[in-house]
Amino acid sequence: MTGRRTPAIEVRVPAKVNLELRVGPVRDDGFHALSTVYHAVDIVDDVTVRRADDWGIEVTGPYADRVPADDTNLAYRAARLLASDRGVDDPVHIEIAKTIPVAGGMAGGSADAAATLVGCDALWGLDTPRPDLERLAARLGSDVPFLLTGGTALGSGRGEQVVPVLTQGTFHWVFALHHGGLSTKDVYAELDRLRADEPVADPEPGQDVMAALRAGDVEQLASALHNDLEDAACSLEPHLRTTMATGLEQGALAAIVSGSGPTVAFLARDNTAALDLMVGLSAEAVADEVVHGRGPVGGAHVTSDPGLR
Ligand code: ATP
Repeated sequence: MTGRRTPAIEVRVPAKVNLELRVGPVRDDGFHALSTVYHAVDIVDDVTVRRADDWGIEVTGPYADRVPADDTNLAYRAARLLASDRGVDDPVHIEIAKTIPVAGGMAGGSADAAATLVGCDALWGLDTPRPDLERLAARLGSDVPFLLTGGTALGSGRGEQVVPVLTQGTFHWVFALHHGGLSTKDVYAELDRLRADEPVADPEPGQDVMAALRAGDVEQLASALHNDLEDAACSLEPHLRTTMATGLEQGALAAIVSGSGPTVAFLARDNTAALDLMVGLSAEAVADEVVHGRGPVGGAHVTSDPGLR
């Protein structure tokens, strides 16, 4: 320690699972039109931003070697974007303690970007109006605005326009992780290939997921979960079907590919059922790792303001 006192802000940010993901046609800007229900779960990254002489980033945790620690990291780009937008010339060092699976369809990179926007905004004392922060978030990626908000929300446009959804209670999930990773771009390309001969309608939100959430009814939610990307993800990684079938045999109420995969999300009746399912899935060794998550939880938020330390 140099004894120099370094202001720092720590921000916690959740991962997401899509309870419903409907993919429409490709738009003129190259993005697919989406209608989705995002749901934030308590699998989190902790992002610390602190004043430094130079811009820098480091990633720690079990998946660190799979995340770029350079200017291509979405968190780094978030800090630079906020700085240039707000006219700040005050370098930061970003540290990401990563537990959100990488390239798992749980929006880990987007989560880190959202956390960095919140952290830098606080560190620099900007108090950026929320709509401006959301606009910058949307420039960084379609999922980033949702990770600012968290909870459960309806996403439209390319996913960047989010409106909170009324929910009751807590839902228990078990996530089966596959460390191979799937590129989101490849999964969308596979979806386009699979339905090349079909007309693709504009995506509309279904009412079943919303009704289940409003009622806090886990069985109703189980039968309403839907992901248009699931067939494409399973076409690229056929073993995902085995993972899904195994979890259902082990008592999961429903199985769904999370976002673009390859993480498989299982909905469990309650906490005890989730723990039993984790044991069962681990014994069957169908995934590289099995983790428990609860949702909904809030979006990126300051957890500690270590201030001068
Ligand atoms: P999504 O669900 O939004 O499609 P994902 O969860 O499948 O995303 P990410 O974990 O966000 O995928 O990572 C996708 C790729 O982005 C990684 O392979 C990695 O190279 C790159 N990347 C850049 N910044 C980060 C970051 N902060 N955390 C994780 N990956 C990052």
